[in-house]
Amino acid sequence: MPLLPGATIGVLGSGQLGRMLALEARRMGYRVATLSPDRDSPTGQVADREVVADYEDLEAVGAFAKNVDVVTFEFENVLASATGAAAHFAPVRPGGHVLHTTQNRLREKRFLATHGFPVTPFAAVTTPDDLRAALVTLGGCPAVLKTAGFGYDGKGQARVTSVEQGEAALLAGFGGHEAVLEAWVEFAAEVSVVAARGWDGAFVAFAPFLNRHANHILDVTVWPAPVDVLAPDVAREAVEITRGVLESLDVIGVLCVEFFLTPGGKLLINETAPRPHNSGHATFGGAVTSQFEQQARAACALPLGDPAPLRPSVAMANLLGDIWDGGEPDWGGAFAVFPDVKLHLYGKKEARPGRKMGHLLAFADTPDAAEARVTAARAALLVSKE
Ligand code: AMP
Repeated sequence: MPLLPGATIGVLGSGQLGRMLALEARRMGYRVATLSPDRDSPTGQVADREVVADYEDLEAVGAFAKNVDVVTFEFENVLASATGAAAHFAPVRPGGHVLHTTQNRLREKRFLATHGFPVTPFAAVTTPDDLRAALVTLGGCPAVLKTAGFGYDGKGQARVTSVEQGEAALLAGFGGHEAVLEAWVEFAAEVSVVAARGWDGAFVAFAPFLNRHANHILDVTVWPAPVDVLAPDVAREAVEITRGVLESLDVIGVLCVEFFLTPGGKLLINETAPRPHNSGHATFGGAVTSQFEQQARAACALPLGDPAPLRPSVAMANLLGDIWDGGEPDWGGAFAVFPDVKLHLYGKKEARPGRKMGHLLAFADTPDAAEARVTAARAALLVSKE
């Protein structure tokens, strides 16, 4: 039975992804409640109701679920016990089993490898002996060491350039916890696919996104990924792999697959996220249906929406806290020169370096023009402060 407008969507987590879900869901006439440990959060500011509680407070999570019609999440590091507590009272979409698999890099990679999906070569390491053996199997340095659980945006990662340095990094940074050692991929590009799967198994994907990172954090996305970077047959393959991932994981909701594209045109999965993704922000304003509306539709068992872009090219540039260094960005100055660029701010009070505070979207007839426009607009935020 679909949950029709007027029903309440409960969101575990309260960051910008929940905020944009809430904006879309409220536009469609739904009510939104959010639960997280934070008060006056990015999601709470635009939701009908904000519950402040720890995710480990299973009584609070259960009470929250009792008062909503469906539970979804924007933060995937919620414990299985919390999704279990919620599932007593309301459907959880995607289900706790999806979070359980994707929130731990090792579980995720093993799942993907076992199901025949192409993943970056990897090995589990806990001790220096494991590390030495894994370096041999993976073909030596460079490699990258990552925490198995609770890592994002390059946090909990160390590049391994020699056996000794790798051992030191393992001992210093991973404290005896299981880690993943990955082969270093000399990729030609990074691309992602965001897709949704409905309660009835229907599958709808956005065209792939081309992602540029700076300091391990997403910097700029161009959508759709230009054909000179991602050939149409490889783009189709990326979407088909993504379909397979959503089906094997039995996802009801939105999931993003991040890929490395090798110089030879091969796709390797870097990681997945069972929710809307930063690289998909271009759809919120740039597509007939945004990734957040798609999440609401999937959670509420409604037919999925049309993922087509509204303009030939859309580019997104993240606004990190660094832009606030030395004062408020020059919104007025940038708006005056770039009336066609759209601003999204997440309502975060404290601008820390590396913290995602908002993003800009620009639209153009070619990928290069859209990217040039969005990065120029971002630069204009700083100009008059100099
Ligand atoms: P992650 O947090 O695993 O998504 O990593 C963040 C970023 O670090 C990626 O988007 C890549 O730009 C880079 N990176 C991570 N793993 C590798 C790898 N095995 N080879 C090359 N670059 C990587």
